[in-house]
Amino acid sequence: MSTHLADFIHRARRLFVLTGAGCSTDSGIPDYRDADGHWKRTPPVNFQDFMALPATRQRYWARSLLGWPRFGQALPNGTHAALAALEDRGQMEVLLTQNVDCLHQRAGSRAVIDLHGRLDQVRCMGCEARSPREEFQDSLLALNPEWAHLDAAQAPDGDADLEGVDFAAFSVPACPHCGGILKPDVVFFGENVPRERVAAVHDHLGRADAVLVVGSSLMVYSGFRFVQAAAKAGLPVAALNLGRTRADDLLTLKVEQPCAPALSFLL
Ligand SMILES: [Zn+2]
Repeated sequence: MSTHLADFIHRARRLFVLTGAGCSTDSGIPDYRDADGHWKRTPPVNFQDFMALPATRQRYWARSLLGWPRFGQALPNGTHAALAALEDRGQMEVLLTQNVDCLHQRAGSRAVIDLHGRLDQVRCMGCEARSPREEFQDSLLALNPEWAHLDAAQAPDGDADLEGVDFAAFSVPACPHCGGILKPDVVFFGENVPRERVAAVHDHLGRADAVLVVGSSLMVYSGFRFVQAAAKAGLPVAALNLGRTRADDLLTLKVEQPCAPALSFLL
């Protein structure tokens, strides 16, 4: 445990907490980036391809069919529990997460903004209807029963490393209401975070007295910009992360330790 980190947290009255993939690796959800913030693997699907190309949607959903069961069953770990406890102490202005796994909510956090959406919901791009991903899994399996038995390693964001198969044979259901394209309710690469969500985050930042980054290299601009804004406004910013972050030169305090043990004093 870092006494500096404990002091930083104890001094704050309204903490703005920003979390990333490093929070969920202890829950068995793989991370995208190495300690230097570089891609460990091929970047995931982008929005334009997903919307324009049926073959991209077939590939995405076939891999998701295999990746979802383990992703959907992941459980919160000590980091999620510690941050939920911080909210119970009344010190949390908001918890902004870049993760799409909803593990903060499952650990009991309530003041959460899912910056990049949530993977446990499916959204129709035609009529905006939302439905549970778990139900969509049943539809995928009903149309593609032979795919359920394929074997593939788990990849980030509910993806699986399935290659060397004929994705053209995979059936993707359309929206049952309007026939529209169904998409996980997450912000893909190449897609913007909804404007009202960004505005809500800035409102919280305006009320916060300190910023704590947990388990994020901040390499994605959509999260980094809030730390930039906080530093510009003169707020102290601490980061708990193994490895480099994009904001290292903006930090008041940097702690390079695994998240769960470093925050266990909150429990
Ligand atoms: Zn629809």
